[in-house]
Amino acid sequence: MEKESEELMAEQKSRILVSGASVAGLTAAYWLDRLGFEVTVVERSAGLRPGGQALDVRGPALDVARRMGVLEEFRKRATQLRGMSMVDGSGVEIYRTTERTLTGGRLDSEDLEVLRDDLVDILHEACGAGVRFVFGDCITDLQQDDHGIEVGFENAASERFEAVIGADGAHSGTRRLVFGPEKPFLRYMGGYVAIMTIPNFLGLHRWQTFYMGSGDAGAGLIGLDDSGTARAYLGFESEEPVEYDHRDENAQKQLLAERSGGLGWVVPQILEHMEDDASGFHFDARIQVIMEHWTRGRVALVGDAGYAVSLTTGQGASMAMVGAYVLAGEIAASGSDPAAGITRYENEVREYVLRNQAAARELNEQNRSDDGRSGPGDFTDFGTMVEDLSLKDYPLLLGLA
Ligand SMILES: Cc1cc2nc3c(=O)[nH]c(=O)nc-3n(C[C@H](O)[C@H](O)[C@H](O)COP(=O)(O)OP(=O)(O)OC[C@H]3O[C@@H](n4cnc5c(N)ncnc54)[C@H](O)[C@@H]3O)c2cc1C
Repeated sequence: MEKESEELMAEQKSRILVSGASVAGLTAAYWLDRLGFEVTVVERSAGLRPGGQALDVRGPALDVARRMGVLEEFRKRATQLRGMSMVDGSGVEIYRTTERTLTGGRLDSEDLEVLRDDLVDILHEACGAGVRFVFGDCITDLQQDDHGIEVGFENAASERFEAVIGADGAHSGTRRLVFGPEKPFLRYMGGYVAIMTIPNFLGLHRWQTFYMGSGDAGAGLIGLDDSGTARAYLGFESEEPVEYDHRDENAQKQLLAERSGGLGWVVPQILEHMEDDASGFHFDARIQVIMEHWTRGRVALVGDAGYAVSLTTGQGASMAMVGAYVLAGEIAASGSDPAAGITRYENEVREYVLRNQAAARELNEQNRSDDGRSGPGDFTDFGTMVEDLSLKDYPLLLGLA
């Protein structure tokens, strides 16, 4: 009898819970499902969380996308910007180029810049019916023992899993439950950025325009297709972190209005739209997440939750995709010992993560000492900073290809 139930257990798929349905979580879910696990994704938002501007997919992440069969779709839905301008406070153009953009780097590179919403949509679709999604809920309790993890949720009844993956962003709830409050892990990079969608009142077509005001604040507008909307940036530098409530959008908007008041160009209109009809509002400090270890036992953090790199290099999505691929592969390769796979994942990506974070800090310092008002001529193109990581072929290793 005991033998029969052991065989039955062996036939049952191992259950893995992923917290967060964005770039890291969806990539991990895709690969874990393909590699034979029963995957549940729990996402705090009521659906896929919208918002943000474009994310860059570069270097080894292009290879992950190709292996997932989504590279062509990324290409089709890439921003395809034609170039950028910088203007002064009166709107007079002081710099113009069709060779690069501030957000995506050189236009003649292989790198792809895709709107965050599109990227997340494509990855979600790729996951398919095999992955179970639970929206509007989050983990409230995690108890590990030798055989698994008992997980409590805010709304649903508790469940048992063999491993839990925290892919819930820079302010990760999984990290808080397993490693403690976030403060010691957040490294402040000297400024704040807000991103939102507003009407494309300048009629920009596949073009971005940026403005650095006097003082420490600036703004940008990016118009893509004919949807009538544009992505707007507002940002300011601050030597010290500013105290604000992460959950109070109105307070964040008020802070931005105070910091951007008196700026020229079309900043007053952007601020009006922010108040009246902006959607997908996202505000955060430029931060990195620095942890000595981003795994513990059967719990692994992936993407921004474990090693956010900050907006400075636009490498966040690539690191999330690469980390998620390696994590899923190593868990699968570890057979019945997910904790061993999780430790190997951390060792495999450590150097890659540290190199990327160091490069981002260097670029951040360069950008802070250059006021950018004469144009981005001296800025380092992101694409030149791509850190490489040679990817193992896990499906082939496991005889699944
Ligand atoms: C709204 C938004 C806009 C962004 N805009 C930009 C941008 O314009 N440019 C840029 O370079 N980067 C942006 N980022 C960050 C960028 O998405 C990441 O750096 C990168 O893609 C790695 O993604 P990630 O999956 O690790 O984390 P994220 O993309 O941050 O995703 C985390 C996911 O976890 C969910 N979540 C959070 N807490 C919980 C919880 N307790 N339980 C369950 N789910 C939870 C969130 O709703 C989200 O879906 C943005 C992030 C967000 C959330």
